[in-house]
Amino acid sequence: MPPDMWGPRLKWMNRVAQKLESRPPSSGYRPPLEGRWKVLIDKTHHHRSTLNMLNALDLQAVDERGRAYKADPRVLSNWYSFGKPVYAIAGGSVQNANGEEPDAPVGKLGKKTNAVSIVHPNGEVSNYTHLKQGSVTVKKGDQVEAGQMIGRVGNSGQAVIPHLHFSIFVSRVKELPITRDLDHQADNLFASIPVYWEDFRLVRVGRIKCNVHVIRGRPQENWIMEFNELKEESAR
Ligand SMILES: [Zn+2]
Repeated sequence: MPPDMWGPRLKWMNRVAQKLESRPPSSGYRPPLEGRWKVLIDKTHHHRSTLNMLNALDLQAVDERGRAYKADPRVLSNWYSFGKPVYAIAGGSVQNANGEEPDAPVGKLGKKTNAVSIVHPNGEVSNYTHLKQGSVTVKKGDQVEAGQMIGRVGNSGQAVIPHLHFSIFVSRVKELPITRDLDHQADNLFASIPVYWEDFRLVRVGRIKCNVHVIRGRPQENWIMEFNELKEESAR
């Protein structure tokens, strides 16, 4: 895209973002992970470049001190995220699932990504991307329950370090009836909406430690959160 397209495109994207901000938050979604995770800052603003990434979250597993890996970071398996289980945020039906693409080495962008998407009864679609090769446990058409494991975090596709790229999609046609503007991104059938999860603990905001039980909240860049273990979840 020529640089002079960025102005109008960003302006348009901001308008779309505002529109999506004004929809009522979704409810009934648990976090897709367990343990301690950080929301990465979108330093390159790549999430602002397309409709389906607009409200995506990049999540990285961290230890007590906020570190994302041990020993040599060039080794994929030294990253705490790599291989961590990923769970359905709510029940639904699997719309797409693929898990055969290789995990790229650290620092190198891969080609195609492994991903799962699930349609929920309210019509929203949750999407889990960069999954580990061979880890996906569901296939198209499967019915899944909330909290069911669907795969593991990996480094497939356009990722340079292991992390989960997570989004919730709505049909852009239904939700954004400003079709002339949307011709900017005719290839995007879905728009990603603000993500709200229920029942987690906020333990750090940047360098500030805290300890807040969030009943329902929208994870922000640089937050470190603790998600319940699934065992506790099912014992309730
Ligand atoms: Zn991302």
